[in-house]
Amino acid sequence: MAASDYDVAVIGGGLVGVATAWGLAREGRRVVVLDEGDRAVRASRGNFALVWVQSKGLGLPAYTAWTLRSSEAWAGFAQLLKEETGFDVCFERPGGFHLALSEQELEARASTLKRLHNQPGAADYRTEILDHVGIARMLPDIGREVVGGSYCPYDGHVNSLRLFRTLHMALHARGVTYLPSHRVEAIERRGDEFRLSTGPAEIRAAKVALAAGNANMRLAPMVGLSAPMRPERGQIVVTERLRPFLRHPLTTLRQTDEGTVMIGDSKEESTDPTGITLGVSAKEAERAVRQFPLLADVNVVRTWSAIRVMTRDGFPIYDESESHPGAFTVCCHSGVTLAANHALTVAPMIARGALDKALVGPFSARRFDVPAAV
Ligand SMILES: Cc1cc2nc3c(=O)[nH]c(=O)nc-3n(C[C@H](O)[C@H](O)[C@H](O)COP(=O)(O)OP(=O)(O)OC[C@H]3O[C@@H](n4cnc5c(N)ncnc54)[C@H](O)[C@@H]3O)c2cc1C
Repeated sequence: MAASDYDVAVIGGGLVGVATAWGLAREGRRVVVLDEGDRAVRASRGNFALVWVQSKGLGLPAYTAWTLRSSEAWAGFAQLLKEETGFDVCFERPGGFHLALSEQELEARASTLKRLHNQPGAADYRTEILDHVGIARMLPDIGREVVGGSYCPYDGHVNSLRLFRTLHMALHARGVTYLPSHRVEAIERRGDEFRLSTGPAEIRAAKVALAAGNANMRLAPMVGLSAPMRPERGQIVVTERLRPFLRHPLTTLRQTDEGTVMIGDSKEESTDPTGITLGVSAKEAERAVRQFPLLADVNVVRTWSAIRVMTRDGFPIYDESESHPGAFTVCCHSGVTLAANHALTVAPMIARGALDKALVGPFSARRFDVPAAV
């Protein structure tokens, strides 16, 4: 195929790239997704699968409305995917909890949520702080050490690996070209189009969307943009399958649709996805048992680490280039939560050729340009 046949080249075949590419294809655009090979480092293969709201946005109030928008759009997004592929990604939004194991932890949680909601312009997450009895009404298996916690009705979860696969199937069904082992080394704008150099081929497209996770830091300057990143490692522990006992997801623990229990919310500065810090897994497991004593006798069947795509302040970056019109960045942590927004809101903006400043203006990387003295 002549390379210039593409309307948009999406760089990166992780969750952010494929959600955006699918949204572009729904807008009738001819799309190519350029990705690395099977063994690439991908947050999309190792995440915790929460569609999470309650704690998002302290420091950038616009992020509260953005997160809530995606949470509200998720059921429709899952339904569209099911209609196109026949696959159910098992999205549920029963409301979620964050549990505290001491009064001090509970106070810290309440104070964080208060500061979050007191920000001018913050969306109302309807979050409540509950005591042990209030929590036990909805989570009957909690341990005595749980003093309370926070609950938000907008929190949910999904089968994230099935989501990833389903999006790839949906791309295929819509005729999107997916090119693995096509790592983009250089991007150049010539005339009206972008030329993307990859090992096997040069690809030409009218627009380019950078969705390469942490690698956006290297790619963005090629099109006059910036994406300051600080990748971090997270570890997850998975148990054998159990009878259904946990209807609601927690920040650090959830029962999957298949019955296993996923535990984890660790943060390490490492960028090595091959290692596991045993002390970290042990701490995660110890807290989980204090929260749910029935987990004490359960076997762990798997544990892994994965590298988070993390911008320098933790909030998303959505940008369009002034010097290279037609180049966009789509980059964030919380790519599961925000998948509905990327497919149904950001992709149509890219298809039209301009980001809607009222919706995503606050997420420009220009926020990092503020001089240190300010
Ligand atoms: C432990 C952990 C738990 C998490 N839990 C949650 C959660 O509960 N809820 C939630 O919403 N989010 C969660 N996340 C975050 C979520 O997984 C990420 O936000 C999301 O997967 C990011 O997707 P991505 O496509 O940007 O990045 P990635 O999945 O990292 O994909 C980037 C892609 O770009 C490709 N690429 C890189 N460089 C190039 C190049 N030069 N050319 C072509 N392709 C390139 C890579 O090969 C890769 O396929 C978690 C992440 C981790 C690590």
